[in-house]
Amino acid sequence: MVLRDRDCTMNSPIVHGNKPALIYGQNICIQPSVPGREDTPHMRKHYLGHLDPLESYTTFFVLFSGGKDSVASVLNLLETGVPRSKIVLIHHDIDGGSERKMDWPATKAYCIAFADAFDLEIRFSFREGGFWGEVYRYGSKKPVQFQDADGSMRRIEPVAWQRSQELKMLMDSAEREDDLELFKQYDEELRSYGYRFQFPAKGANLQTRYCSGVLKIEVGSVAIAHQVDTKENCKIMVVSGERRGESTNRSKYNMMELHRTHAPQRRKRIVHHYRNVIDFSEKDIWEVLKRNRVVPHPCYVVGWGRASCACCIFSSPSHFAGIKEILPSYYENIRLAEIELNFTLDNKKSIDEFVGSAKSCVDHNEQKAIHQLLTGEIGPEDILLDHVEEWKYPSGAFRSGVGGPC
Ligand code: SF4
Repeated sequence: MVLRDRDCTMNSPIVHGNKPALIYGQNICIQPSVPGREDTPHMRKHYLGHLDPLESYTTFFVLFSGGKDSVASVLNLLETGVPRSKIVLIHHDIDGGSERKMDWPATKAYCIAFADAFDLEIRFSFREGGFWGEVYRYGSKKPVQFQDADGSMRRIEPVAWQRSQELKMLMDSAEREDDLELFKQYDEELRSYGYRFQFPAKGANLQTRYCSGVLKIEVGSVAIAHQVDTKENCKIMVVSGERRGESTNRSKYNMMELHRTHAPQRRKRIVHHYRNVIDFSEKDIWEVLKRNRVVPHPCYVVGWGRASCACCIFSSPSHFAGIKEILPSYYENIRLAEIELNFTLDNKKSIDEFVGSAKSCVDHNEQKAIHQLLTGEIGPEDILLDHVEEWKYPSGAFRSGVGGPC
């Protein structure tokens, strides 16, 4: 039975959050808690009956957002005995180096500090232009950049990228020469590679809620498929922290399946995907952080229920009221873009109407966390509580029913 986040409280029982057995090195195959789905051609293609013993995998790539579920996912691997040297955290930067921001100033700093505190390797990846680049996309998707095993950044261009760049130059010269016919022809071809000028839709469909797919899932696949350590003859486990309790959609996810970068014939590359906290309730997740004395991302301490993008499209009015209060330039970016695009972030209302008179979710008692959230001044010493301090639920705990799905 799945305990939905909206029904989970501090008093819910701990079901999956207790310390797991040390199974690494014990030749144990992990079986799924719910048999894998085989109801569509796509699900049949990705079906995986069980995981091989943990010790048989060469690298564990953890998709690490810095949110509580990905933190619990890493801690669970460590508690089952996976050596730190085999774990690599992969973080996708949603802003892709762009000036206009969508994500918390603290997120990257928290991820680095967490990796330092646990002596784990972390690598970064992003789609150039980030969230706002995709909102204003005209032509091909932008290139993906990712950090490789040696620390250097690599860049992968989509197939139509060069042609899109060429078309933009041709359009400029057609405009200069006042050749409207040619301009229209180039414009049509450019739009065939992609044209957005609208916000992602609030819904489960990843085609229309394009931010998750284009800025996270696809970036992750490109980064994992091209890492030096996944080129050939390797056996990889990709680990991510989705949970059934988060949404109806996620309640149907498989605990384990073949990852989209699995290529056993062509590359002799085995890639299994393991959602190791899929059955955990929110209470179970907090229990893992509590046991390990881990301080969560400051957004939880300040009052957010999820560490998704700061301005996640699924944010509630009180979350956007919080953004308006502590990150007014982020709020203003959305307000101005709504006017420019003639398209609202919400399905029906402008951001100002959506927020209305909602009370900000910010907990003003948490000045240190507010400072960390806005400045990114977080070090490894801020991740683990010392032994005299009491671990407390953050203000945002058990408010997960409100916020984004990724
Ligand atoms: S957290 Fe929200 S805005 Fe960010 S990628 Fe996910 S759905 Fe989109």
